[in-house]
Amino acid sequence: MVTSAGALDHAVQLAPHVWWVGHRLPGDPFQCHAYLIEWGDQSVLFDPGSPLTFTETLRKVQEVIPLSKVRTIICHHQDPDITAILPHLDTLITRPDAQVLSHWRAITLLKHLGLKRLPMHCVEQMGWQLDLGGRLLQFVFTPYLHFPGAFCTFDVASGILFSSDLFGGLSAEAGLFAENEGCFEAIRTFHEHYMPSRDILAHGMSKLEQLPIRMVAPQHGSIIPEPLISFVINQLKGLDCGLFLLTHTNSDYRRLSQLNRMLREMMQTIMIYREFGEVVERIQELSAPLLPIVGLEFYTQMEMGEAMHMAPESRFHGVRANPPEGFRGLLGLSRQQWWQRCAGQAYVMTAQAIEVPGETEPIYGLVLPLFSTQTDTVRSLAIVRLTEQVTLGEELVRILDQLCLPLSVAVERESLLRVMDAERQQAYERSIRDALTGLYTRHYMQEALVRLCQIHNRDPEATIAIAAFDIDHFKSVNDQYGHGMGDQVLRRVARVLVDNSRSVDLPVRLGGEELVLFIIGVTREMAVTISERIRARIAELKFGVPMQDRQVTISGGVAFRAVQEPVERVMERADMALYQAKKGGRNRVIISH
Ligand code: GH3
Ligand code: MG
Ligand code: MG
Repeated sequence: MVTSAGALDHAVQLAPHVWWVGHRLPGDPFQCHAYLIEWGDQSVLFDPGSPLTFTETLRKVQEVIPLSKVRTIICHHQDPDITAILPHLDTLITRPDAQVLSHWRAITLLKHLGLKRLPMHCVEQMGWQLDLGGRLLQFVFTPYLHFPGAFCTFDVASGILFSSDLFGGLSAEAGLFAENEGCFEAIRTFHEHYMPSRDILAHGMSKLEQLPIRMVAPQHGSIIPEPLISFVINQLKGLDCGLFLLTHTNSDYRRLSQLNRMLREMMQTIMIYREFGEVVERIQELSAPLLPIVGLEFYTQMEMGEAMHMAPESRFHGVRANPPEGFRGLLGLSRQQWWQRCAGQAYVMTAQAIEVPGETEPIYGLVLPLFSTQTDTVRSLAIVRLTEQVTLGEELVRILDQLCLPLSVAVERESLLRVMDAERQQAYERSIRDALTGLYTRHYMQEALVRLCQIHNRDPEATIAIAAFDIDHFKSVNDQYGHGMGDQVLRRVARVLVDNSRSVDLPVRLGGEELVLFIIGVTREMAVTISERIRARIAELKFGVPMQDRQVTISGGVAFRAVQEPVERVMERADMALYQAKKGGRNRVIISH
């Protein structure tokens, strides 16, 4: 394939009878192409050019055929870079049957060039095709890509699509052919900026897809060889365009294209990632080229005026906390109230740096209101932590606008989960029975103990003995046989506790594999006997496959409550005794005196 700049000094043959005859102006990334189909005296010249390029184009045409062989000039649209030479051609091409073909919409404009000789015909009146005599050109209407009357020409014999502005791109370097899929990046920027909408572009592409195209010859950028065609068409079908909407002032479409991609990736991030922390991290990464961002945190309004704070420090787990002083009144505002409060600004940049624990540099905050999709009031505040102040220019504001909706959905979803989590936790704590072992819960124990202690204080006969147990080397059961097996062991051990206590006693799972039995109304000796029996029964348990004859043991510490002794104190003594039992070699019960 011909790609070197020097080779472009001559006509380049693309297929039998088809030639590239364009000219690249130095420093002009637009690289307008002109093409020639050499077909005897029915030859066709496509998009001939302007006075800036035509001298070279003419020279190249004449390398192939004399200009007099050209009967038809096809102009895919009316822009001066491809048609300004028409008045000159009007004098050069003198044969009486010569013609200019275009869409009526372009012709209404081209007629103002005031051609004297060359007649103009509309492709639609020719039934969207031109027979060169044994060679058929089909015209494909691709409206609004990029102007109302846009069309392409398909040369059936060679399979070449002369695609006008479609598939065009900007090329910084001289070169004629796209070499790999990387070519799409040049096409992307051009189309995102230029084409009116994704739907219209996808519609145009689906029309072209039906043609057996073997090469795409666009008016700008690189010629696309067959292996890359379906890839490029597919990419274009999914491309977001109409990017000029994003800004009124910025014409740097490469940068706009980058921004657009960033926004798209942010949306995808929010949809794909399940962990909120990951969403935040990714958004931060993507915003880094745009903002001096060091972190993102959120305050969300909850029931009854409370707020939840989700920040990197708590790994976004959500802790009850109000926004800092300056931002406190912002949650719950309607849009109108926000505008009043923030002097007509959609977003607020904090004027003063805040010191954050753990951060060495003080940080600035950019505050974004996230409106509830239901009530349209500020449900959350996103605070973008920055190392320096930024100017809220038009471009940044538009990007933030686009970011806020998906971000508010993500934060709303996450805060709901967090609230549900907190509720579940509370419900668990309030419940009386532990789900795994069926023993009483710590929460219930605390309530019950208050009553038992009151009774004991009044009636010294209603004794309370506390037997604290802890399974020995339980971690290694989990490690060797899996957590499921560990759970089974816990259940069996708990069962022994229940089976060896009476209905007045209180078997409790304090947490993990720490169990306590409150033995009520028995003597010290009796309490020790019961505890010792529990220990022995557990040591006798058989667990079968996969644990085989692996023994499970527990250690115990027993303390007897003195009248008026605070419960915490008795618990401590039982714990100390348990500790002694562990230290003394485990699988034993120690009594606190
Ligand atoms: P020690 O003899 O010193 O008590 O050793 P240990 O391995 O029992 O001590 P440690 O307290 O370090 O380990 C307790 C283990 O109990 C760690 C934890 O994974 C496990 N565990 C806590 N709750 C549960 C549970 O509900 N199910 C299971 N399978 N394991 C649990
Ligand atoms: Mg243990
Ligand atoms: Mg333990």
